[in-house]
Amino acid sequence: MKLLVTGGAGYVGSVVSALLLEAGHEVVVLDDVSTGHEDSVPEGARLVRGTLRDTAQDVMAGAGFEAVLHFAAKSLVGESVEKPGLYWDKNLGESLALLDAMRVAGVPRIVFSSTAAVYGEPESTPILETDPTRPTNPYGASKLAIDTALAEYARLHGIGGVSLRYFNVAGAYGRLGERHTVETHLIPNVLKIAQGDGEAVKMFGDDYPTPDGTCIRDYIHVTDLGRAHLLALDACAPGTHRIFNLGSGTGNSVKEVVDVCREVTGREIPAEVAPRRPGDPAVLVASSDKIQAELGWKPERDLRTMIDDAWTFLRSR
Ligand code: UDP
Repeated sequence: MKLLVTGGAGYVGSVVSALLLEAGHEVVVLDDVSTGHEDSVPEGARLVRGTLRDTAQDVMAGAGFEAVLHFAAKSLVGESVEKPGLYWDKNLGESLALLDAMRVAGVPRIVFSSTAAVYGEPESTPILETDPTRPTNPYGASKLAIDTALAEYARLHGIGGVSLRYFNVAGAYGRLGERHTVETHLIPNVLKIAQGDGEAVKMFGDDYPTPDGTCIRDYIHVTDLGRAHLLALDACAPGTHRIFNLGSGTGNSVKEVVDVCREVTGREIPAEVAPRRPGDPAVLVASSDKIQAELGWKPERDLRTMIDDAWTFLRSR
């Protein structure tokens, strides 16, 4: 298929682009390279630089794209609380521009990169797709609004859409890994300490109602996550919008992650308890039953493999 990948210079978008190319698809990446990296765009994909608002319509006009995979977004929870307008404008506003460009050009399918942040503080665990969506920050709220728009474009314009709600993505796919300028995620932060970049890991809170007192998250390998996008692409059916959680179905605590990082790196990795990070729920674990049952997807790589691959990636740079 001829595919447009928005945000293909970012972490997940670049890995998915690589997997799509390996599967024999033609890939054009549309990215403004504001937070991504030009050299993350896999060889074989053509990069068009620009925002969705300014360029989506021109890029798609008469180009014969068969689907869009939409990753381009702002994705820092803390920044979204400080600058909500930026998140509504970039995430929702630019996605609306993209959807309308698809409508005009007659592009029939979209796979959308969504997030567990749409659920907010869960009432029960593991989280099901039918659970209430009550985002606690503008990042999650803007992503949820895109789902609403997607459902309408499916119902009224016949587009086929699949939203994948990611839990905690980690690991690397060869030379493609996490390269955020502002790194907030646990695993890359712990591995930085392992590399000697910083004194000690800060574990945000050890008085949560969990077995060891630290927060539990559902970590998923970026390669497993990427594979789900190829299945979702095949599952896009005209006039329907489907939603799937994407996690491993099991949780690991912050302390467990730090311990596995110590085992994998063979380094001591000093860690200290720091105050809770505002807005962190104690436990976020996805039910992945729906995607397993309906798309036949299963996670294949465990936490150790994620950390191993992230560590290899970090040391190669
Ligand atoms: N965390 C931590 N220290 C860090 C970064 C994260 O203790 O330097 C904790 C964070 O409070 C959360 C978990 O690790 O409980 C995962 O955080 P991350 O930012 O990786 O993902 P999130 O679950 O917020 O999307």
